[in-house]
Amino acid sequence: MSLEDIQTRIRKAEAEAGRAKGSVRLIAVSKKQPNERVEAVLDQGHRVFGENRVQEAAAKWPEFREKFEGVELHLIGPLQTNKVRQAFDLCQYIHAVDRPKLAKTIARIAQEEGHCPGVFIQVNTGEEEQKAGILPSEADDFIKECEGLDLPVEGLMCIPPVEEEASLHFALLAKIAARNGLEGLSMGMSGDFEKAIALGATHVRVGSAIFGERNYE
Ligand SMILES: *Cc1c(COP(=O)(O)O)cnc(C)c1O
Repeated sequence: MSLEDIQTRIRKAEAEAGRAKGSVRLIAVSKKQPNERVEAVLDQGHRVFGENRVQEAAAKWPEFREKFEGVELHLIGPLQTNKVRQAFDLCQYIHAVDRPKLAKTIARIAQEEGHCPGVFIQVNTGEEEQKAGILPSEADDFIKECEGLDLPVEGLMCIPPVEEEASLHFALLAKIAARNGLEGLSMGMSGDFEKAIALGATHVRVGSAIFGERNYE
């Protein structure tokens, strides 16, 4: 696979779902990828990337930004409250807002800094113990709480359980978003982004299908 193949598949999935061309944003997930691979994708003109750790983002993106204009960085992984300020400096979007303490910290730092990254609320659609995210039954209240804190809530995000049919989770996330008047849906990864697009994804997070297998050393 390559960036171009994935873009082609996204455009095709948009068309098949009767959605406008370009309505899905491709977040190229560059976590744990060698810099040469990331730079190759930047060289091809892509500017929207995702990282799941603040520390890793801090280690590579300031330098890439000096070389390439217009980078848009999405933090897609769990965020500790003591890293929020650093996340503000590095990222334009935070995808895994999942608890009141984090929402309140983001709101406070937004006041202090005078700006705030766009926010996605992570929903634990599979109600998995080990997974981050607000439970579906608590999502409506938490969304209202975030909006009450004046966070710029773009939409919702989920990571379906690996052993279940992803479409059920994408449909659930879309339903929760719709009843709360939210448009953004961050869902779909290398193995299932076309299904996510069919169910309304506005942001797909694709890593290995673009860059190849991750380096876990
Ligand atoms: C790593 C990661 C992805 C990308 O996964 P691939 O299967 O490589 O496409 C997407 N979303 C999150 C939250 C991730 O941590």
